[in-house]
Amino acid sequence: MTFQQPSKPSNTSPTCLICGRSTLEATNLQARDYLSNNQFTLARCVHCQCLMTMDAQQDQKHDYYGENYYNASSGKFSTVIEKIFRLNHARNARYFHTHFPSTNILEVGCGRGYLLKELKRLGATVFCLESADAADWILDNPDIQVATLPESQSNRWPFADDFFQLIIFWHVLEHLSDPAGSLKQAFCCLALGGTVCVSVPNVSSLQARLHLTTWFHLDVPRHLYHFSQTGLVFLLEKQGYEIIKITAGDRMQNLFGWLQSLANLFTPGHINSFYRLLQGGKPLRGVNILSLAIQLLTCWIWIPLGMLGFLMEEITKKHATITVYAKKPDHDNK
Ligand SMILES: [Zn+2]
Repeated sequence: MTFQQPSKPSNTSPTCLICGRSTLEATNLQARDYLSNNQFTLARCVHCQCLMTMDAQQDQKHDYYGENYYNASSGKFSTVIEKIFRLNHARNARYFHTHFPSTNILEVGCGRGYLLKELKRLGATVFCLESADAADWILDNPDIQVATLPESQSNRWPFADDFFQLIIFWHVLEHLSDPAGSLKQAFCCLALGGTVCVSVPNVSSLQARLHLTTWFHLDVPRHLYHFSQTGLVFLLEKQGYEIIKITAGDRMQNLFGWLQSLANLFTPGHINSFYRLLQGGKPLRGVNILSLAIQLLTCWIWIPLGMLGFLMEEITKKHATITVYAKKPDHDNK
């Protein structure tokens, strides 16, 4: 998908693009991109508690989604981790197949396409929507019908109205320049009674509140928006959706978020080194060796603490990632 950034709030129009209120405030919060080491400022909406990454276009020539991010067409992680990742997606696909049986399914931004491949195997016709400048190996995926969107998200999507029974934004909405416009397009393409599934990191989670600028799931500048549960629900309802349910998101990501965010506390200048070790390949070659050594040597502290944090999260229900299921009402009122 396209990866532009929200415009910087000015004194005259500090409007939150999630809730639409003039309650966006500049903060002193600065977060570092673990790949480029560039620093980004966050703005916060007082009303919906969402955060926005500012200045993400400060270096327009920089490709924040380069090889260090995707690693390679064969996968984003080293072989064993990639296999776990794939199994996790297959499990998610079976959940969709059981709870939201659909003929036509769209995933917005499909990565390596594991989810859609499994849904296809289960009998659905699957589509993916990507930006025209996505990596060639994504666009040329032989298993999935990939449609491209050449310009901004607000452009009309290249699908017929009411075509899909299920549209999935799996850790994608936070990357999009116009999440409201994208959800609006999804609404048009959904059949009456169809479901949209949106999974995002939750900035109102326990994990985010404790770590924030070194929080693993912040991932600036690729994440342009950092949704609170309240903000995401508001955004969906504003587009006409009815919320069906909100779940804990991806527990594998929730647990890893605890582990890596705690490890980052020991090396705040070079975060996510352990993650890069798991990725292997090119991302690992760019890692700061000293920070990796420190993160590995301190694992006896952050592994048990991370487990404890994960349990706390389960008890308090303030999960690091959340998944919201919402439907297009049976009687179209848009
Ligand atoms: Zn807001």
